Amino acid sequence: MINFTVGPVQSSDAVRAIGAEQVPYFRTAEFSELMFENERLVKKFAHTTEDSRVVFMTCSGSGGMETAIMNCLTGEDKALVVNGGSFGERFVEMLTLHKIPFTEIKLEPGKALKPEHLAPYEGKGYTAFLLQKHETSTGVHFDIDLVGDFCRRNGCFLIVDTISTFLCDPFDMAATGAGVMITGSQKALACAPGIAVMALAPSALKRIEKNQCCCQYLDLKLALSNMDRGQTPWTPAVGILRQINVRLKEIDANGGDSAEIARCAELAKYFRDKLVELHLPFEIISESLSNAVTPLHPTTQSAFELFLKIKDEYGMWICPNGGSMKDTVFRVGHIGYLHKEDYDKLLAAFLDLRKKGFI
Ligand SMILES: *Cc1c(COP(=O)(O)O)cnc(C)c1O
Repeated sequence: MINFTVGPVQSSDAVRAIGAEQVPYFRTAEFSELMFENERLVKKFAHTTEDSRVVFMTCSGSGGMETAIMNCLTGEDKALVVNGGSFGERFVEMLTLHKIPFTEIKLEPGKALKPEHLAPYEGKGYTAFLLQKHETSTGVHFDIDLVGDFCRRNGCFLIVDTISTFLCDPFDMAATGAGVMITGSQKALACAPGIAVMALAPSALKRIEKNQCCCQYLDLKLALSNMDRGQTPWTPAVGILRQINVRLKEIDANGGDSAEIARCAELAKYFRDKLVELHLPFEIISESLSNAVTPLHPTTQSAFELFLKIKDEYGMWICPNGGSMKDTVFRVGHIGYLHKEDYDKLLAAFLDLRKKGFI
């Protein structure tokens, strides 16, 4: 199978080799060193300030989103949240569950965030802002500078879900002034799923210190005090943390985050150029694309039927959409261990389906 989804994605041979090894005991100086190295490289690639911290939570990316809310926000906050698709909707559900007062900025699927969407909330006493930098469900890459500037002017604490854009599109955490950045092990980090990575700016550390977290397992006070010695309060997904270490070092050796972003951008451009060249019956649905994924509306066939056909008859996974977009949208990812030849195979499958009259 070739995997063009947005996670889990294909891993490099070195990362996969770790998966075949025995899982080592971890309350050791050697494992602590590995954790410190992971922290140092995440800080480097996310462009955090020197005094920021990184924690590795054993949960998927959504666990990282909820951890951020539970540890950094309270009922005293007044939050703004952008809901541009299913991941924005998840933030909305979590804010509701945890009783954080909020206002939702709901965007039509595929639409970019514009200054006029934020203008009504200027100077209205908002204290926090939650955003997917890339709303993966519809492939919309939001303007983080627009949001960062709004937050600076209004004194809002910014929580950014960069789960599907970290290492795909440029991101400078210090420059945007974000308090929390969240990513996951199974997106562009291209490891097994199971670890949420969170970078925490001093503004977040201050909020965490003051706050009483209602969940012991996801309490960032405990995660941070353990991370002082390169450890975690509970048994973490040790094998995945070792994969992350190999992967981060791989990226560092190959030119760092900018080289990885360029590689992802090149794959995205290669695929998008071919779509136009071959006149395939697919329309790009996003106004503002990330390098991570191309969201497509097939004009002649159900998106889900196309997903099944490509999976069952051509041995490849494109990424289906759920809910109301099940039949209208599918996505082709550009993250993980993929090469141009893989896209040639996918494009050949599309051409074959066109010849057969399926699309
Ligand atoms: C994948 C993803 C998540 C988290 O999904 P999990 O399945 O919990 O890892 C959250 N936000 C965005 C934008 C994502 O792409």
